[in-house]
Amino acid sequence: MAAGSEADAARRWRDKYLNLLDEHEKLKASSDDRSDQLRRGLLMVSLLAEGQAGNVDSALGNLREAMKGGSLGVSRSMDELEKVVRRFETQNETQAGLLADELSAVADKLLQCPLPKELLKKIREVRKSTAKDLGTWAGYITQLKAWSDILAAVATLEGYDENAKSSAWWQRWLKPQEKTEQPEPAEEIAEEDSSTPQQEPGFSHIAAEVADTLGNLLSRLVIPERLETRVTTLQERLNGGLNWYELVPLLEDTSQFLLDCLGSGQEEFERFLQSLDQRLQAIQLMVSDANTGQSDREKARHDLESMVREQIADIRSVVNGLGDLGELGSSVRDHLTLIVQAMEHYQECEVAREQRLAEQLQIMQARLNEMESEASQARQIIEDQKARATQDHLTGLPNRGAYQVRLDEELSRRSRGGGALSIIIADVDHFKRINDGYGHLAGDKVLQLIASTLRKNLRTMDFIARYGGEEFVILLPETSAEEAMGVAEKLRSKIEACPFNFRSERVVITMSFGISEFRTLEAVETVFERADKALYKAKAEGRNQCQRG
Ligand code: GH3
Ligand code: MG
Ligand code: MG
Repeated sequence: MAAGSEADAARRWRDKYLNLLDEHEKLKASSDDRSDQLRRGLLMVSLLAEGQAGNVDSALGNLREAMKGGSLGVSRSMDELEKVVRRFETQNETQAGLLADELSAVADKLLQCPLPKELLKKIREVRKSTAKDLGTWAGYITQLKAWSDILAAVATLEGYDENAKSSAWWQRWLKPQEKTEQPEPAEEIAEEDSSTPQQEPGFSHIAAEVADTLGNLLSRLVIPERLETRVTTLQERLNGGLNWYELVPLLEDTSQFLLDCLGSGQEEFERFLQSLDQRLQAIQLMVSDANTGQSDREKARHDLESMVREQIADIRSVVNGLGDLGELGSSVRDHLTLIVQAMEHYQECEVAREQRLAEQLQIMQARLNEMESEASQARQIIEDQKARATQDHLTGLPNRGAYQVRLDEELSRRSRGGGALSIIIADVDHFKRINDGYGHLAGDKVLQLIASTLRKNLRTMDFIARYGGEEFVILLPETSAEEAMGVAEKLRSKIEACPFNFRSERVVITMSFGISEFRTLEAVETVFERADKALYKAKAEGRNQCQRG
């Protein structure tokens, strides 16, 4: 038992050991992972920080080298880097403090100059924020830009202080040892300085800043081609490192250069305005064309739109290319914006107008459809009425009116050299008796049956109409009187043979026929009369027979 429990204990210890080993492996993996991430992060930071200062850069280089090795190297480099960064920061703070003092001094001197009120106000504002701005890298840029603007404003004060010599007011603030109350002419300073170059501590320090500021100013200008050599010379002088006594003539030259630049900008601007005017005229033309051109509005509008957009983009790029044109530039930009707005408004109106037109068109289309359907209904009604007007309701045969029309057609065909034409008048015998004996409805049925029997036994080209009551009239084209007699006889026998049954009683119905043929130059009435007389004869001679008239 004892041996068994020892073995159990040993197994438990081994399991515990193996578990701990596992845990350790996991922890190590996660630690390696984290240290790898840290290394990568540091590498990135070191690359980003590079270029800020020479001694920091070399420390960063060392750090990167060390990171290729193990973690020990990193921590050593980190210490080193920290020291260097601290040193660099202190150095920066000192430099910033010095620079702030210098800028303050410059501001004081400028504030004593007879400058325009707003400019003095601006200088006071910039001076107020100098110390704070120089605390950060971004602040340096703000501060330098502010000074660059102030210098630009000072440089472009055309005709300012006309009584003083053109260079006098520069000296007042640039020459530190001079009191502003005692301005000296530039020439004297230059002579004095060239013989005994003084290294004024204040200005030698500020010289680089001034050079930077001026460089900045020059780089912001749009330089006309003819002035390019002058700007190159100026820049070379600036980059060459300035002694304080060189500043005065350089600033004067820069000032003159700025004035020339702006002057030539003015000319360019005038030329630009001329071209703008032409473009606007072209736009105007297009607008009026678009308004009057009725034929292809859509295309005109599209052309107008793309043309205007093109022109505006063009003008915009010209305006932007001209750089800072002051109020005129912004007024041109405002006008461009207005043109774009007007164009968009015009387009909106057009769209609304087209929409209204489309709606009206739709309404008109709907009205047209309505009218078309009304017209087709009316046509149908008329056709029905026409049919009703020419058709006998009871038998479906053509009526007396239709007979007249057909008779005219047949007569004119005959007069153009057509063949013979005969007419038959048929009348039901003793029809009154049928009505009286079996009722009117039965009489109607008889009439329907007689009509269909007659029609069935005629040719297609023959014409039969219900002439009235129980009387029918038949026109037989290309048929002589003899032939017509044959037709009539056939019809008579067919009717006689018709199986009429009334109340299961067979009733024989017969018809009498009067026939005549149209003779040349004979009046229609005469022919009809002959046929009618023949019918009367058939009736008189016992009915159910055919007579020729
Ligand atoms: P006849 O042999 O001499 O022709 O004798 P009839 O009776 O046929 O002649 P009559 O002219 O005296 O009578 C014709 C009758 O036909 C009178 C009329 O009531 C009848 N009639 C006319 N049109 C219609 C109709 O559309 N339907 C019916 N049921 N009867 C009609
Ligand atoms: Mg009759
Ligand atoms: Mg009759």
